[in-house]
Amino acid sequence: MDLRIGLGFDSHEFEAGKKLILGGVEIEYEYGLKGHSDGDALLHAITDAILAAIGEKDIGEIFKDTDPRWKNAPSSIFLKKALELMKDKGFKIINLDCTIIADKPKIAPDKDEIKEKPSQLIGISKNR
Ligand code: MG
Repeated sequence: MDLRIGLGFDSHEFEAGKKLILGGVEIEYEYGLKGHSDGDALLHAITDAILAAIGEKDIGEIFKDTDPRWKNAPSSIFLKKALELMKDKGFKIINLDCTIIADKPKIAPDKDEIKEKPSQLIGISKNR
């Protein structure tokens, strides 16, 4: 059995006038996350973890921040591409564990949805 483990990490500054999206979920807050795409640091970290585990280039190399196609793009596009590459190599995801580090906003009210959405995108149950 070829079992791989990938570690992804991402960090974005806040930016006024942008929607805050985490795990594909819009969260009520006065700032969003700065970035060329929608700034979804959680989906970026998950995407990068998958790419690392399968030995592919990282998210910044595959989806360059100078490419106008990714301007304000939903980060689910990046995750879907990583999942395609993963499936092409015969792998599947068993489980994910993600940690969000932020003083603000409180994400507890949106935690269930933040678990649900990436699970759906990946095609695994929420308890994985
Ligand atoms: Mg990012």
